[in-house]
Amino acid sequence: MADHNRRWYRNPTSLLLAASAVILFALTLRTAAAIIYPEQALGVVIFGLLGQLLPILLCGIVVFLLYQWHSRRAPEGQADRQTRELTSFSRSHAHLVFSYKLSTRFADVAGIDEAKEELAEVVDFLKHPDKYTSLGARMPKGLLLVGPPGTGKTLLARAVAGEADVPFLSISGSEFVEVYVGVGAARVRDLFEQARRYAPCIVFIDEIDAVGRQRTAGLGGGSDERDQTLNQILVGMDGFDSETNVIVLAATNRPDVLDQALLRPGRFDRQIVLDRPDLKGRLAILQVHVRGKPMHAGVNLDVLASLTPGLSGADLESLVNEAALLAARRDSRTIGQQDLEEAIDRVLMGPRCHSRLISQRERTVTASHEAGHAIVAHVVSNVDRVQRITIVPRGTAGGYTRVLPGEDRRLFTRSEFEETLAWTMGGYAAEQITFGEVSTGASDDLVSTAT
Ligand code: ADP
Repeated sequence: MADHNRRWYRNPTSLLLAASAVILFALTLRTAAAIIYPEQALGVVIFGLLGQLLPILLCGIVVFLLYQWHSRRAPEGQADRQTRELTSFSRSHAHLVFSYKLSTRFADVAGIDEAKEELAEVVDFLKHPDKYTSLGARMPKGLLLVGPPGTGKTLLARAVAGEADVPFLSISGSEFVEVYVGVGAARVRDLFEQARRYAPCIVFIDEIDAVGRQRTAGLGGGSDERDQTLNQILVGMDGFDSETNVIVLAATNRPDVLDQALLRPGRFDRQIVLDRPDLKGRLAILQVHVRGKPMHAGVNLDVLASLTPGLSGADLESLVNEAALLAARRDSRTIGQQDLEEAIDRVLMGPRCHSRLISQRERTVTASHEAGHAIVAHVVSNVDRVQRITIVPRGTAGGYTRVLPGEDRRLFTRSEFEETLAWTMGGYAAEQITFGEVSTGASDDLVSTAT
């Protein structure tokens, strides 16, 4: 895309090239005239030749002007879902992605209704800013989306831009991190310049903790670059007045490490928390991702949602995709429940290791180990239930026992932790009882017990 900030005629190199082209053209014309009409006066000949060249020149000028006009209007003319990199941004070699007319909508985001409600107000503001400004209301300039990876922070930010039908400028916080002092700050300046030009728009900074960590006292010098970059973000956000209509959304899973200055009013003063989905949320997300896919009539998404506690939106999306791949591998026309359940194992543990050679002894040890987990979980826990036990190796695991919580919980009691510890060590105990010694198969259990 053309660089609108720095027009060609403001660029000394382009000017020099243009001047050289004109001189070259004049010299060629003079030489051609002298060769073709050696007897005639040079002025008459050049005028004659110019008369013939004039229509071509005019055409060239018209094409050039059309190109300039088109590139200035480029965003309006772009097709749906188009995503490009702003080449002007490459001046600072950062990867800024510019998208216009995104097709992502709130309907594509499920299981985080509160976050959507909060952001619906931002969409309304971008669509009808007068409604708010006439009342003297000011939208927050920045909103912080907080949540573990894969919970839909980027998706939600895109949905806001899609719903409001405004450009979406997205960059990762790590793009600002450079060895050279001042480069990150220059990138931030570029970003805010672009944002102002495309306003109203959404700026999305992913992983803002890469750059927004608490500033140091200035000792050591190692973090000077990051501090300057962060300062530039603060200055940039302060530079947006209530008329600018640029809303900065930033995502992080570490709000605790962010500098307080970033979180104060006028900057990222609103935090929106996106958590891993609960049962209802998982069902809604699965429904979004099976939309438009040929599902077998017997597929029960409620069961699937109950089998996937702890999985994020991204995991669920990947689960449905894995199931579709498994169905394709079976040459089936529809995705079945069996594909979906097999896909859970693939997402959680990795693909089956068909070719791994396992001796009978190893099988026996693994079987005894997994049975130990299952029996202890069944006996000690009132709420958790054993859902699956297998000795088919997947990823690095020789086998595994899946114990599901009876319900989605946020509060855990001491006795529940003790129950979990007990069944986690059930495999170790079973090996000890059966074989009189333990194998390395119990090492993961020891690590997870200790942490
Ligand atoms: P994050 O930015 O939080 O790491 P993303 O927004 O990049 O997560 O999510 C990755 C993918 O996971 C999305 O493109 C989407 O397909 C799926 N996904 C995540 N959360 C949700 C959700 N709440 N509803 C629907 N799909 C989701």
